[in-house]
Amino acid sequence: MTHSNQAPIGLAVKLPFATPEEFLAKYGANLTRGGIYLRSRTVKPPGTPITLDLKLSTGARLIYASAVVHFVTGQQGQGVSGMGLRFLTLDPETKRFLDTALAPLPHAQSAEPLLPQGVGPADYAVPPQPTASAPPVVPPVAPAAPEPSAAPSSPTALAPAATPMVPTAPAFEPLKEEPKREGPIIGIDLGTTNSCSGYVRNGKPEVLHSREGHNTVPSILALNTRGKMVVGHPAKGQMLTNPRQTVYGAKRLVGRAYDSPIVQHIKDRFHYEIAPGDSGEAAVKLGNRIFSLQQISALILREVRELAQNQLQQPVSRAVITVPAYYNDNQRQAVREAGQLAGLYVERILNEPTAAALAYGYGRKLNQRILVYDLGGGTFDASVLELNDTVYEVVSTGGDTFLGGIDFDNAIVEHLLEEFQKQTGKAFQGDRVAMQRIHDAAERAKCALSERSDMRVHVAFVTMIDNKPYDLDVTLTRKKLIALTERLVDRTIEVCDEVLKAKGLAPKDVQEVVLVGGQSRFPLVHEKITKFFGKPPTKNVHPDEAVALGAALLAHSLGQVEGVTLIDVLPMAIGVGLPGGRFKPVLERNAALPASKTYTLSTSRDNQAELEVSIFQGDSERAGENEYLGTLKLAGLPRRSRGEVQVTITFEVSNESLLKVTARESSTGREVSSTFTTRDTPEAVKARLAQENPTEPPAPASQAPAPAAAAMPPPLPAKMAGVVGWLKGLFGRR
Ligand code: AMP
Repeated sequence: MTHSNQAPIGLAVKLPFATPEEFLAKYGANLTRGGIYLRSRTVKPPGTPITLDLKLSTGARLIYASAVVHFVTGQQGQGVSGMGLRFLTLDPETKRFLDTALAPLPHAQSAEPLLPQGVGPADYAVPPQPTASAPPVVPPVAPAAPEPSAAPSSPTALAPAATPMVPTAPAFEPLKEEPKREGPIIGIDLGTTNSCSGYVRNGKPEVLHSREGHNTVPSILALNTRGKMVVGHPAKGQMLTNPRQTVYGAKRLVGRAYDSPIVQHIKDRFHYEIAPGDSGEAAVKLGNRIFSLQQISALILREVRELAQNQLQQPVSRAVITVPAYYNDNQRQAVREAGQLAGLYVERILNEPTAAALAYGYGRKLNQRILVYDLGGGTFDASVLELNDTVYEVVSTGGDTFLGGIDFDNAIVEHLLEEFQKQTGKAFQGDRVAMQRIHDAAERAKCALSERSDMRVHVAFVTMIDNKPYDLDVTLTRKKLIALTERLVDRTIEVCDEVLKAKGLAPKDVQEVVLVGGQSRFPLVHEKITKFFGKPPTKNVHPDEAVALGAALLAHSLGQVEGVTLIDVLPMAIGVGLPGGRFKPVLERNAALPASKTYTLSTSRDNQAELEVSIFQGDSERAGENEYLGTLKLAGLPRRSRGEVQVTITFEVSNESLLKVTARESSTGREVSSTFTTRDTPEAVKARLAQENPTEPPAPASQAPAPAAAAMPPPLPAKMAGVVGWLKGLFGRR
């Protein structure tokens, strides 16, 4: 469990001064309106919530505040150690004291704690890095951002409290060189909440540790107040104090169009700003810059790569990266791109459940049908696999990319706010920081309730209403948590049922249920699984590590003569949009991969020189409800009578679920040029399709020859120049 999941720590300090003036005379440099620097032999990591109670020797209270550790100084046993606490909420007396006592002190106007004079930058360390004493053997990969130039204690670095500084985000510098395809291959689980990497050493898969000694790295990136990009635990540490500049949950947004209903629906749930990118994709605004989600994910992957290099003590530039089985083609391509930006040659994109199955079955010569139930921070997948010694075949898969731990947290937060209103008679009014603190407390309570039956949720001074401070203080029981979230667990069981039924299977046909994803630790999940399948889930895999270990095992097997064979299926149908807004699947969901199918179109007007086909992925009969992958534009067609020109489009999906499309004009042999138009937003395409007259003679949608084809001259194979479009090369930049 990471530090920001702890309950606030009470820090009561009795000062050796009788008056505030004496205190200020000696330690005024340590105090600002935004925080305080405390020397201490024992420091807490950044992000630790603290309730600070500072009293004078007379017992009179000087400062009473809820705060969070913003930075720490010094290493264990070296230099001056201490920590900068950033105030979150002050009691009114403290506020009055700071307003009046600090008004004449220029340095004290800062909105955050400052490093006082006398504590040299050499002592300054954010965050504490226990591995720092072992110098890395390999030079680190390109840093995410230049080091801050201003010394933290420099008065010029101060931001006036009234106008919080918006830092300038450093530009993202992708690596210039193509990743070299040599050296070790690591497995990476790029998770919604945490990322984890693994490697097979001496035949045994192991998890690579983060700098702080954790098995996972939070998938969080932040721009700190000094304009530096931080990744992982330090970024998580500032989530409470700087939520606007802290990006989490990128996995839910990557590869999606900004205009898509999904992004529009969820964008306000994130505390940071989601904005349209250059090509209409969902992107993130940090400081004054827009970052693509590929860039954000790349920065997380770079961190993971750097950790791996430090641990393996050699350069790492190859990886197997996992994605949810339910990811569509856009999302898979985006992850591939992120890997490349991070300097990694992506050997393979692997579905998470397949990775978990590898962690479960590798080397055990099993002959079993299993179901992998993966409930993580943001997504849910259920997949049925048949294991036959070294062959891992996915037979059915399904899921919900918007069902995960975060939805459990949201349900708790809603309940807490209702309770607040009941207790105080006031509607909760709080800013982003307050909401973030409540979310944090809700998640902490949720995790604790996996082990115990009740838990007090106490967020001190969470808000001020009519100049009066209020705490949030609610005791949550497991029973209540179950009542609040049972529908979410029921939904996961429904998906399991659908996935089984898609292959005519019943729950009893599954020999083992493998649970992965942090949220699968919720006891209600175990209960419902046991009831539905008639047996408890296996305890053989670690829910947080299985996916990374499975990816590492596949990475290891890639170099071997007798490696494993993975047979996957297409998670969602791929097809074309038809006039009237209908969707015509060309490749069906659960088609075994690799798969290939053709679709034939013919002209619907005399002398028609161009044809357009919009491609979607999803399981809805309405094109508009599926994910828009792009529009293929076929130009330069021979001018003939209506129906005389035929174009055959081949859809090929690789074993990684990546789509490639080729188009052939088959009536005259003249070359057809095809491009993917980027002019239209997905919404415009969907709207246009919906408006087109469904009774207009359709461009025939079939894998069989179109009716007009009977009257067509036979194709001229020798001259049939294939026009090949790597759809995704272009779509990735859409
Ligand atoms: P993952 O994406 O697999 O890292 O899962 C992260 C999700 O699991 C987050 O929503 C966590 O709150 C949740 N989680 C982690 N530990 C527990 C636990 N002990 N009980 C319930 N949920 C948990």
